[in-house]
Amino acid sequence: MQVTLLGTNGWFDTATGNTPCVLVETKDWTVIFDAGYGFAKIDQYAVSEKPAYLFLSHFHYDHLIGFHTLAKNNFSAGLKIIGMSGVRQALKDYFDGRFTITLDALSYPVSIHEFDEIQADLPFKIEALPLIHSGPVLGFRLQADGATLAYVTDTGYCANAINLARNADLVLLECSLPNGDSSTEWPHLTPRQAGKIAREANAKQMALIHFDGWRYQTFAQREEAAQFARLEFPHAIAGRDGMSFTLDK
Ligand SMILES: [Zn+2]
Ligand SMILES: [Zn+2]
Repeated sequence: MQVTLLGTNGWFDTATGNTPCVLVETKDWTVIFDAGYGFAKIDQYAVSEKPAYLFLSHFHYDHLIGFHTLAKNNFSAGLKIIGMSGVRQALKDYFDGRFTITLDALSYPVSIHEFDEIQADLPFKIEALPLIHSGPVLGFRLQADGATLAYVTDTGYCANAINLARNADLVLLECSLPNGDSSTEWPHLTPRQAGKIAREANAKQMALIHFDGWRYQTFAQREEAAQFARLEFPHAIAGRDGMSFTLDK
């Protein structure tokens, strides 16, 4: 399993990165987490003729805005967009012709599915658990090619974040807040809280993602955050756009 971070900012793009998107290439499938503006770079990577599955954590714009670039990609074996209950309704207006290219005008088939409806039919094992945020949000745990990846973003500290990351080969954890900052109006994580989750889950590796574009403006600030995370979990690193991980057994 090859995991590439295409977008590691939260909220908005800056010189340090794009908004969230993670590309996972497995032997037989392409799996994508979220469609922030990092999604616009996916055609620079080896998106092959494999069937593609895109899992949405929630519907905040920083996780959807990259859908605007669907037309520059060619998922020739089809793209399935999978989200929480209500995903079809949530994306209905988004894909309206007034705002972007419509799905039926794309050169490849795209379909939209609720996670609970499609989970049993997916060709790989993936779990979703609710996290805590300003509204509903899902975290994911993917098992493929003998490796386990957890994708946990837009959440405060909670038991489900730990459950998703349990013994994972890699957990991607959000880091919207600087160390010691609890001033957020919406639940998010500080680097130490992210480190605590990785430690309590007994994860093997952890990378911080979803650095708030306003609070984290430099790579030096990201590295400082990783140092705080390492007080809890020694293997924590600061994610960057373009960073890649090979997980194998
Ligand atoms: Zn976000
Ligand atoms: Zn959010």
